[in-house]
Amino acid sequence: MKVLKFGGTSVGSAERMKAVAKLVFNDEPKIVVLSAMSGTTNSLVEISNALYKNKTDQANEIINTLEEKYYKVVDELFSVKEFKEKGKELLSTHFGLIRSLMGDDLSDTEDLSSGQAGKKILSQGELISTGLFHLYLTEQKIDSVLLPALNFMRIDTNSEPDSYYIKENLTRELQLYPDKKLFITQGYICKNLFGEIDNLKRGGSDYTASLIGVAINSEEVQIWTDISGFHNNDPRYVGNTFSISQLSFDEAAELAYFGAKVLHPSTVLPAKLANIPVRLKNTMKPDDEGTLITDKPTGDGIKAIAAKDGITAIKIKSDRMLLAYGFLTKVFQVFEHFETPIDMITTSEVAVSVTIDDASRLRRIVEELKKIGEVEVSKNMTIVCLVGHNIMNQKGYIHKVFEALNYFPLRMISYGGSMHNISILIPSEEKKAVLEALHKSLF
Ligand code: ADP
Ligand code: ASP
Ligand code: MG
Repeated sequence: MKVLKFGGTSVGSAERMKAVAKLVFNDEPKIVVLSAMSGTTNSLVEISNALYKNKTDQANEIINTLEEKYYKVVDELFSVKEFKEKGKELLSTHFGLIRSLMGDDLSDTEDLSSGQAGKKILSQGELISTGLFHLYLTEQKIDSVLLPALNFMRIDTNSEPDSYYIKENLTRELQLYPDKKLFITQGYICKNLFGEIDNLKRGGSDYTASLIGVAINSEEVQIWTDISGFHNNDPRYVGNTFSISQLSFDEAAELAYFGAKVLHPSTVLPAKLANIPVRLKNTMKPDDEGTLITDKPTGDGIKAIAAKDGITAIKIKSDRMLLAYGFLTKVFQVFEHFETPIDMITTSEVAVSVTIDDASRLRRIVEELKKIGEVEVSKNMTIVCLVGHNIMNQKGYIHKVFEALNYFPLRMISYGGSMHNISILIPSEEKKAVLEALHKSLF
């Protein structure tokens, strides 16, 4: 059985939903994972935030606009009166629930979208898209089963997926329908250990698909989106990028982690561990080849560039470091204590620089580090990451990297940490120019 995930744009209108129905309507058994229609989760976040700030009028306005959009979708999606009515009933249930949460006591949550009322609001996008899609298939007399993700997707106390629970419960759900071939479920949403509604973080539907793929030992996980696979550079910033036909799990994981938005960063690991191929496909151009991600190395050299914003660099300098041991241990212990992962690291004899992505505990980290040495913090940095197989062993390309970067301020360079990655830290305002320069020089 295959798993096919369709992202926000792929189900972003009535017309697009009809196209997805055509793509999934065949004899192959499959689980179809849907995101919310594009823009919906953003609106739901805005609603949560407005409610948190007690701006009820603003929240109401966004809810009304969103609801209006969905009523139009229902009108365009269904042709039979009975189904139009059912579609409207579905909307009225979900929007009713969103409105009912406006009365909840929100005082104990730090930020509404991280509290229970907020998470319930955020979950409505995927519940509506799958509900409407399943109803459309029914109208079209296409036999399918709507599997509630909240019955089997669960995260543990560390917000990590509970693979054992997912496998047990999804298997049980599927066994209820031995003769069915087409299953629809929600991406992104899950329950936590307390049985409350939770989610796999923004963009998490990709992750849902790979977790389901592993749980059912799927032959392939397909991520259907609005572009024909992994491109060799970020198409939002650079022109003339092109799709890469094959990537290894490691290359794809690195690119996704370092900012290639096309894949949620956690998606690759479960698939890699279970050795399940992941295929990226374009819903608008289904005949395009896309990208196949497997355990096979795919030719040496730099294949792609990605960039991750919102990075903070921290330099710790101490003369005591000279010829001393144990200095790095002390530095790392601070980050461990504040549960903050380090991405990049470079060292000299008297200083060490590290980068972090999560700066929520920065103030306390800096306070502790000051006990070890002088501390310097640079905010608004970007990691540009060059990825390919066996880059270290390839000759004759590194001058192209440095030539391209010659006139840019480079804060850190990390080379040799792995065989397939070079990372460079730059001020974020240089990102577009750096990506373009590298693109021109390398591809
Ligand atoms: P979906 O809603 O289907 O999950 P996303 O918007 O999350 O889609 O991801 C697809 C988008 O990722 C593309 O439209 C593209 O702009 C962006 N993107 C960023 N980097 C890359 C890359 N290296 N290759 C392809 N797409 C990328
Ligand atoms: N709808 C969620 C989001 O916008 C999850 C996803 O699209 O993958 O973040
Ligand atoms: Mg996405």
